[in-house]
Amino acid sequence: MNHNSDERIDILRERIATVPDFPEPGIQFKDITTLLACPSAFFSSIDLLEERVSDLGAEIIAAPESRGFLFGVPLAMRMGIGFVPIRKPGKLPRKTCSVKYSLEYGTDEVEMHADAIQPGQKVLLVDDVLASGGTMAACCELVEKSGGVVICCAFLMELLSLDGRKKLPDARVISLLEEAD
Ligand code: AMP
Repeated sequence: MNHNSDERIDILRERIATVPDFPEPGIQFKDITTLLACPSAFFSSIDLLEERVSDLGAEIIAAPESRGFLFGVPLAMRMGIGFVPIRKPGKLPRKTCSVKYSLEYGTDEVEMHADAIQPGQKVLLVDDVLASGGTMAACCELVEKSGGVVICCAFLMELLSLDGRKKLPDARVISLLEEAD
């Protein structure tokens, strides 16, 4: 059966479970494992992302661990371009560049191989959920630090109440699902 774009979006939404108070009280956790386990919804999510970004001229995809990999890798394969993992500190074996960023309590850091992105290369960043935007803002800074050009940040889901977009001022932001909370 063929579904139009709105129907495919609804199928995705139905496959993402909201788990209240995980990992701590007050957080509405969006669980994408139920989507990954459903081939039609998982394939559809990659199709829909590809449709939204295909005309942007991305030359490489970068994504933060670990859930960003789950969508970034199949999207890169679909688009016929390479993939760059962005990782927590100490995981990558060669020379890295890194960016620290603030959390509600304390700081975190993202790292990428220093030679992963070529100067001027057009980079599409991908993650599952846009929440406060801190992680993706740090990923944008990392790509720019290594000479890449962020052409778009693409997400499966955006949590509108956290207004993460405001941390991504210069980049185009695409999300398949916009959730109130
Ligand atoms: P943030 O830096 O606040 O935008 O958070 C982004 C990262 O945390 C993403 O990689 C998400 O995978 C994860 N994340 C944040 N909030 C949630 C949530 N409510 N449900 C699922 N994942 C989340």
